[in-house]
Amino acid sequence: MRKKLSLLATAATAALLLAGCAGGDTTDPGSSDAPAEVTLTGSPTYDAMVEADTVRIGVKEDQPGLGFLDAGTGERSGFDIEIAKWVAESLGFSDDKIEYIAIPSANRESAIVNGDIDYYVGTYSITDKRKEQIDFAGPYFITGQGILVAADDDSITSENDLAGKTVCSATGSTPIQNIKDNYPDTETEEFDTYSQCVEALKDGQVDAVTTDQAILLGYASQDSENLKVVGEPFSVENYGVGLPKGDDALRGFINDMFTDGNDTWQSIYDETLGQSGTAVEQPAVDAY
Ligand code: GLU
Repeated sequence: MRKKLSLLATAATAALLLAGCAGGDTTDPGSSDAPAEVTLTGSPTYDAMVEADTVRIGVKEDQPGLGFLDAGTGERSGFDIEIAKWVAESLGFSDDKIEYIAIPSANRESAIVNGDIDYYVGTYSITDKRKEQIDFAGPYFITGQGILVAADDDSITSENDLAGKTVCSATGSTPIQNIKDNYPDTETEEFDTYSQCVEALKDGQVDAVTTDQAILLGYASQDSENLKVVGEPFSVENYGVGLPKGDDALRGFINDMFTDGNDTWQSIYDETLGQSGTAVEQPAVDAY
């Protein structure tokens, strides 16, 4: 009896799968609420999105205020998520056509080069080294490297106090490289993600976490009893949308979106990072 049931279940699953395939070929359930028409020619990335009827976006999901996934509700939030959605929408993809893929700092270039994602939006600094492998639209935000310490720690008040300390950051990030290159008396600890560094800081395994101040402020605001940001930003980080190298059509499209005088950027900022009360201006695009 049990065998018969499982066979039946298998047959039913196969039928469903087949129906799913056939349906995918012959019907277009999204057509009724299709967003505005998009004119974008000569972009292989966009053509592949249209073909797949899906946009795959690389993101962070442990950075409150920027790219965050609420494990309870399954909801994603933050400035980067809204920028990612704005790009998708401008390309004609509604929210239900977006597939988010969480990718840590060290794996971003390879995810883009390998075609695992169509684009990446997640505190991704535009650098010449990264530009050897990928391209960037933007910048769409500017921040700088900062320091997060325990709320009761008075021994670190700026980057000048890092000698003899152990500082945590993410593998493959610009801030950890800055420490390794320019702070020879500072020990480093690294993890895939910044939330792991924050845990290590709370456990007393490291003295500080360093990365972009915008990221650190998100952690501090979630746990101000235990964490504080100290000092002033000591690098310049220009956030870009990571794209497959050579897709100039897509890069131009996104840059145009950022520059065409609409107030979308401002409203996204106001609803996310701007909630902290800090006013900033949208940066000028670097259409290299
Ligand atoms: N913006 C820096 C970077 O791209 C640090 C933040 C991050 O790792 O995402 O490396």
